[in-house]
Amino acid sequence: MKQMITGHTRLAALFAKPAKHSISPAMHNLSFEEQGIDAVYLAFDVEPDDLAASIQSIRQLDLLGVNLSMPHKMAAVALMDECSPAAELIGAINTIVNQEGRLIGHNTDGIGFMRALEDIQVSIIGDTMTVIGAGGAATAIISQAALDGVKTIHVFNRKDEFYPIIQEKLTQIAQKTACEITLTDLEDQMALKTAIDQSSLLVNATGVGMKPNDTVSPLKDKTLLRESLAVYDVIYNPRETQLLKDAKAVGAKTANGLSMLLYQGAAAFELWTGKAMPVEKVKALIESM
Ligand code: NAD
Repeated sequence: MKQMITGHTRLAALFAKPAKHSISPAMHNLSFEEQGIDAVYLAFDVEPDDLAASIQSIRQLDLLGVNLSMPHKMAAVALMDECSPAAELIGAINTIVNQEGRLIGHNTDGIGFMRALEDIQVSIIGDTMTVIGAGGAATAIISQAALDGVKTIHVFNRKDEFYPIIQEKLTQIAQKTACEITLTDLEDQMALKTAIDQSSLLVNATGVGMKPNDTVSPLKDKTLLRESLAVYDVIYNPRETQLLKDAKAVGAKTANGLSMLLYQGAAAFELWTGKAMPVEKVKALIESM
């Protein structure tokens, strides 16, 4: 049943630039409706210079909360009254909860990733994983995995100008958790082979393989794949990247980034409302979009 917007209806929102292409409004509006919550979710294009004022409006207009996406995830941290331990570790937030004017920053991307692994019955707690990429998505994944008890994470990244910064960030995450984290140049194929051989999960956290370059894989040597190595690709456009095709061909468990997207949204919804997102219905909706 369609809900009526009244004077009591609360607003949740996405602040991003660009924001209009996002599927978050569809996910959250369906969930509000299904759960009978008197709220609506809208997407706003917010320029970096307007971020502080937009965040202040959460307090002034008593918003339920917001999601943040590019380019605001890091800049918003300094504007929070408090951040969750994972958000502190990551140094970026994608969700703000308005607790009677106190703004709490969370990062649900890593939570979404860990829940996505449960969907394909992959457990990595106490185990070793290899991650290709060390940007925003990778940092959220690595931090949450380290907090949740993954023993070793081997990170591979191209040796660009960000490499020393990445090294520093990964050292911080390792120091604040019980996780051993290594960083190696993605060009080092011997080290990549050794890491993957020791791992039960391989994650692509780069955009390599996205449309229109969907015949490219971030893993140049597909003979490194094996049946017992689960493969997760954060990309969801296309649904099956070249990496996932190669992994499926050797019989490995695979999943694309749609599940991470779904569960990061579910975690934000739970933080705002205290209720579960109807994930099966939302999954069917986003798969059809
Ligand atoms: P980012 O710009 O912060 O990081 C990109 C990473 O990819 C960096 O480590 C960079 O070095 C690496 N990279 C880029 N081009 C490369 C190349 N040609 N070869 C090797 N490495 C390369 O971006 P991000 O926010 O971390 O996003 C990365 C991907 O994750 C994007 O495709 C994005 O759509 C996806 N993503 C998915 C979800 C989800 O919920 N599924 C969430 C966030 C991001």
